[in-house]
Amino acid sequence: MGKGAAGMIYLDYLSTTPCDPAVVKAMLPWFGEDFGNPHSPHGPGRKAAAAVERARESVARLLGVEAREIVFTSGATEANNLAIKGAARHLARLGDPRRRIVTVATEHKCVLESVRDLESEGFEAVVLGVDGEGRVDPEAMREALKVPTLLVSIMAANNETGVLQDIPQLAAIVKEHGALMHVDLAQMAGKMPVSLRDVDLASVSAHKMYGPKGIGALYVRRKPRVRLEPLFSGGGQERGLRSGTLPTPLIVGFGEAADLAAATMGDEAARQVFLRDDLWAQLREGLPGIALNGSGAPRLAGALNVCLPDGCRALDVLEACPDVAASTGSACTAAEIAPSYVLTAMRLSAEKASRCLRLSVGRSTSKADIDRAASLLIAAARACQPN
Ligand SMILES: *Cc1c(COP(=O)(O)O)cnc(C)c1O
Repeated sequence: MGKGAAGMIYLDYLSTTPCDPAVVKAMLPWFGEDFGNPHSPHGPGRKAAAAVERARESVARLLGVEAREIVFTSGATEANNLAIKGAARHLARLGDPRRRIVTVATEHKCVLESVRDLESEGFEAVVLGVDGEGRVDPEAMREALKVPTLLVSIMAANNETGVLQDIPQLAAIVKEHGALMHVDLAQMAGKMPVSLRDVDLASVSAHKMYGPKGIGALYVRRKPRVRLEPLFSGGGQERGLRSGTLPTPLIVGFGEAADLAAATMGDEAARQVFLRDDLWAQLREGLPGIALNGSGAPRLAGALNVCLPDGCRALDVLEACPDVAASTGSACTAAEIAPSYVLTAMRLSAEKASRCLRLSVGRSTSKADIDRAASLLIAAARACQPN
């Protein structure tokens, strides 16, 4: 997949990535011969525990933090829930009078829904808007923080547009106001160097960075120490923050993926920028009237979210291109097609959002893939346009 002139061209790496072959190889023994429970006090258990701790160090190294600040979870959805609900509930239980939680309209659903859930427990949600490029205004953040705030949750890179927020600047403002700062790093980790200065909590997911699905982590700052109420009751693993037997194979795969990402990220980002810009140049040449979403903002290397010319519905174009695996700016919820709330927050109309395609290149994308995808998409979009 993603290779050669025939077959499927995968251009949806922001949705998920395949496991790197080295990741699969590293995981295999831990499914079979090395099956010990990492919490058991015997040889096989200790062997698994040592592998878990090596992987914890790899994930910590990728983020520039200490291994004991990493809590393994089932993914970024759980890490985001644990960070937001865990921090808010812990502080409220200690008698903290603050109730405000600030987030942004373009966050992942799991962040927005976690904050919504807290509203029903008496917390106050403030959801900041973004500008036409998808960026948060630091002044709007300052304004929201005038009311004493418990926690701010912001993503580093958006999963639909690749637009980056200025986390160091926003985190400094949040710190100045005494609130906890949580960052959803699911799209940035493993693709770009991250800075967790002034950040208290940060979520990552292995399957967005060529590791396995079903494993992620939450960075929980130790100095000063951030305390959380766990989401589930159980055996008290992960220092009481996340009960449940650790999935050794997935954690080993995550560690391998972190090492690989750290070793290759610079060259790979440059290669992806080249391919992504080439794809954009071909589409722009072939489809007058096409627009680039978030064009004025810094973006992730592989991300390209485009608005097709008048009359071209993205769903129709993708249906006419079965060999291109990409996403649209809409999601089918229950019976209807709803425009992407990320794009509408960037002031696109529902009609424009229905013309948006989310394309993303990754490690196995080649120049031949880009050329073939561009010609397939251009032909399909031209055929969809009314004359
Ligand atoms: C994928 C993603 C998530 C959810 O991660 P899972 O590990 O699939 O639960 C959260 N936030 C962002 C920005 C993502 O891209």
